[in-house]
Amino acid sequence: MFFEKVVIAGIGLIGSSLARNLRRNRQAGIIAVCDKNPLYLQQAKALGLADEIETDIKKLVRDADLLVLATPVGAFGPLLKEAAPLLKRGSIVTDVGSVKKYALKEMEKYIDKESGIAVIGGHPVAGTEKSGPEAGFADLFRERWCILTPSKLSTPEALAKISEIWQAAGMRIETMTSEHHDKVMAAVSHLPHLIAYSIVGTVADLEGYEQKEIIKYSASGFRDFTRIAGSDPTMWRDILLNNKTTVLELIQRFVEDLIALERNIRWDEGDKLFDLFSRTQKIRKEVIEARQDQPEQEKRLQAELNNLKN
Ligand code: NAP
Repeated sequence: MFFEKVVIAGIGLIGSSLARNLRRNRQAGIIAVCDKNPLYLQQAKALGLADEIETDIKKLVRDADLLVLATPVGAFGPLLKEAAPLLKRGSIVTDVGSVKKYALKEMEKYIDKESGIAVIGGHPVAGTEKSGPEAGFADLFRERWCILTPSKLSTPEALAKISEIWQAAGMRIETMTSEHHDKVMAAVSHLPHLIAYSIVGTVADLEGYEQKEIIKYSASGFRDFTRIAGSDPTMWRDILLNNKTTVLELIQRFVEDLIALERNIRWDEGDKLFDLFSRTQKIRKEVIEARQDQPEQEKRLQAELNNLKN
């Protein structure tokens, strides 16, 4: 699939990794980039990822065939309010946001049913805790899942075109409703991130502990939580506030399970602890077997970054 002009709003980790793929797979004639961060715009240009750069989306979208929203989800509404009236008939709007019900609601709010603009929700389930165009890399999406969530404004043709972009980037496609997406992601992504933020905050604030000792011995477990808790604050604020109901339900369940663990420890119920830890160990093995663990990708990212620096 070839688009004459693609506009990417937000040239961070995901937007820049997509731009790298569009270039590599020759799927875009012109790549125009809008970002509110002037440094990122300059970096995108220097990296050869953008033909046009602007902080004002209105200056880019008039002749776009595809608009990809790749900012934190909280910015989707304001960007669409400006861009939607200028988009041409036959163009496609998609996004990469980590919450889908809210993202589609914003898109359907600003794009008129009669406009002839197709809307497809998208979420490439791949990432790192890093931000910005220099953190992106083309292989980020390889062998990961991309979830597409069609909307009232979707067409089969637009769905096929968006699928093709992500497939060319190495992704496997799954299509589901935005509601189902948000429920699944609350469990596998939103709750784990929330817990990581909470643990790192708790340990960092503990009284009677030396901060430098916590950092010095962090490899014993804390370190792995800091990787997740090092993710972008704006992005995660927007995700948790826009999948509120499901996340709150899961927090309730998590608190109950944590209290049960507290009781197991208090009453020396070692067999119960052992059973749980054996079950979780099995889950870890299944994740590795499904090739959904990160170390390989991290190594590739480091190699790419080193190449860029040399
Ligand atoms: P990122 O690296 O922080 O990049 C986001 C970019 O959008 C930044 O350059 C940011 O500028 C810019 N931006 C923010 N508000 C804007 C606005 N109103 N107009 C124009 N640009 C704006 O973030 P990311 O990790 O690529 O995430 C982008 C999207 O992908 C999010 O919706 C997220 O939910 C989704 N996603 C992320 C991951 C992941 O693991 N990171 C995975 C899948 C999907 P500033 O730096 O100045 O704020």
